[in-house]
Amino acid sequence: MPLLKLRLASPALLVDINRIPGLDDIKEDGGVLRIGALARMAEIEASSLIRASYPIIHDAAEVIGDPLVRNLGTMGGNVSHGDPNNDMPAVMLGLGAEFVATGPSGEKTIKADRFFTDSFEVALDHDEILTEIRIPRRSPRSGGCYLKLEQKVADFATAAVAVQVRLGASWECEEVGVGLTAVGPTAIKARKAERWMKGKKGNDGSALREFGRLAAEESRPAADLRGTAAYKKQVVRLLVTRAFKTACKRAGGGL
Ligand SMILES: Cc1cc2nc3c(=O)[nH]c(=O)nc-3n(C[C@H](O)[C@H](O)[C@H](O)COP(=O)(O)OP(=O)(O)OC[C@H]3O[C@@H](n4cnc5c(N)ncnc54)[C@H](O)[C@@H]3O)c2cc1C
Repeated sequence: MPLLKLRLASPALLVDINRIPGLDDIKEDGGVLRIGALARMAEIEASSLIRASYPIIHDAAEVIGDPLVRNLGTMGGNVSHGDPNNDMPAVMLGLGAEFVATGPSGEKTIKADRFFTDSFEVALDHDEILTEIRIPRRSPRSGGCYLKLEQKVADFATAAVAVQVRLGASWECEEVGVGLTAVGPTAIKARKAERWMKGKKGNDGSALREFGRLAAEESRPAADLRGTAAYKKQVVRLLVTRAFKTACKRAGGGL
């Protein structure tokens, strides 16, 4: 709607998908959590399943805009818009989600790290809509956290980070997922930071400092009214370190 209002988009035909039944589920099914494209942010925020087992999604849902925005905004709209400032794309990168695209020739899945192709561009074809997001089901000793710095309440992020971890028996990181918001032309998957932390102990302070440094290095922020590029990189470095610690606590690492 904002794009139409600003005359940046003038489609000849507008299709309202809001009343298509069955696209607003939030449920675990088999090995995955399924979130329907029409699930509203307010529903995601209120879901006891999300709060208990996928707190990283709850963290993000509750800081999106204000209650009016969350009552209407959908998961599908949040990610399909391709806005690098939206919060859910980085969460989906951290969680290793898959997006289900449905069109005339059926369904296909697209991995989150191939979905966000450019600013306001995603890997959906013109005759496809996103119908569902699939997230690997929570495994034991896994946890995540989304942290967002905003200038004022209900604002878009100055910078924000998503960190998801799975810990081994001696607290070594078996899996690490990192997504960054508002510090590049798209949400960014911080692969170098992920690779670095894999196999390291969650309580290894010097490894954690390098983890933060690498994530900041991978961010590509632009200076704007919210701050300089250098400032935003520092924010990423700090937030990634803090989010990692909370993710480990939630994974049961007690760090
Ligand atoms: C005042 C305000 C503050 C906001 N603050 C934040 C914030 O802090 N953080 C944040 O993350 N977001 C924020 N948003 C964005 C908001 O959360 C929604 O993501 C956004 O408005 C999209 O809303 P929608 O779901 O109604 O999608 P729409 O506006 O209907 O659609 C957005 C775009 O996605 C496409 N689309 C929608 N659904 C699908 C689908 N299923 N398949 C394919 N394409 C689809 C549409 O064609 C359109 O191009 C804010 C929005 C507003 C207006």
